[in-house]
Amino acid sequence: MDIWEQLYQAAKPLYHPEDVNQFIYAHNVVCALQSRSGQIYTGFCVESACGALNLCAERVALLDMFTHGGETQVQRIISFRDAAPSGVGGMPCGVCREALLEFNPANRNTQIMVDYATRQTITLDELMPNWWGPAKARTTTD
Ligand SMILES: [Zn+2]
Repeated sequence: MDIWEQLYQAAKPLYHPEDVNQFIYAHNVVCALQSRSGQIYTGFCVESACGALNLCAERVALLDMFTHGGETQVQRIISFRDAAPSGVGGMPCGVCREALLEFNPANRNTQIMVDYATRQTITLDELMPNWWGPAKARTTTD
């Protein structure tokens, strides 16, 4: 089982779309990522009635890595609905692309699964070629 299959198998059980209550709908997109240290973290999307609380599966997995492992760098990531991604269905949205880059600019090298069957991937840098971050980065004194 290659790493992509490990990631796919880690996320797949999380796919079971459901109403959590009258306001929250979840589990209709799932994600798994491999951190720099090699750990696998997962997430599923959470959608709210007002919309402002929505969290994509990718950001939930990123926060799972950050809160439980203290890591910010992602080697590779896969997200999908009921089946493994083919075509551009698994591409992260703009907010998730930004989140990945702001958590760690080295995530420009993150491999994103495009087509699971052929193992075609794309890097975040290819999706965000002129990211504004380096010009706007806050300088720290500590
Ligand atoms: Zn997103």
